[in-house]
Amino acid sequence: MATPITQPLTKRSQVVSEKRMTLMERIYLPAIVKGMGITLKHFFRLRKATVKYPEQLRPMSPVYRGMHVLKRDEQGRERCTACGLCAVACPAEAITMVAAERKNGEEKLYREEKYAAVYEINMLRCIFCGDCEDACPKEAIFLTDRLVPTDYTRGTFVYGKQWLVEPLDPALRVDVSKRQPKAVAEFKKDRNFAHNR
Ligand code: SF4
Ligand code: SF4
Repeated sequence: MATPITQPLTKRSQVVSEKRMTLMERIYLPAIVKGMGITLKHFFRLRKATVKYPEQLRPMSPVYRGMHVLKRDEQGRERCTACGLCAVACPAEAITMVAAERKNGEEKLYREEKYAAVYEINMLRCIFCGDCEDACPKEAIFLTDRLVPTDYTRGTFVYGKQWLVEPLDPALRVDVSKRQPKAVAEFKKDRNFAHNR
């Protein structure tokens, strides 16, 4: 017969106390009265912890990690250069893209010689970690405080560029300044870091 292993598996293991219950612990009614007291105290509290959704909306944090946006630059050109760093950084493998070369005459559409002809994020895989945003050296992808709309079919959650690229109209651009504190913006401009080249 094998000898039982008595050595603890972790250093945090504790010896279980086998002490007998006291009389008060065995008479469970005091514990019930105590529990009811706590329940009633919270029941008559004036401070409301609930929000009457959807009539009332809870304010979202400006750095909430919601639906992504692919940014344009000041001249309306797509910033993404299809370098693929966001896809490599994505732990959920939610991002796919197809790169293409910019043609003559397309300088007003795309900022650099290469751009993402196809850029897709599978919102069912995404865990909204923000790693794609951190990895992007071109300030092209940001998470926003927008929620991903609900739907009934899985296919509709693969978001292409028509969902992700922000509108051309300057009035409809997505403000990401709160997600881009000065220190981060300065860091991303520093060409001494390979990440920013
Ligand atoms: S937020 Fe995270 S999981 Fe979602 S696409 Fe970006 S890197 Fe992938
Ligand atoms: S890391 Fe930025 S520039 Fe590179 S493919 Fe992703 S979004 Fe585009």
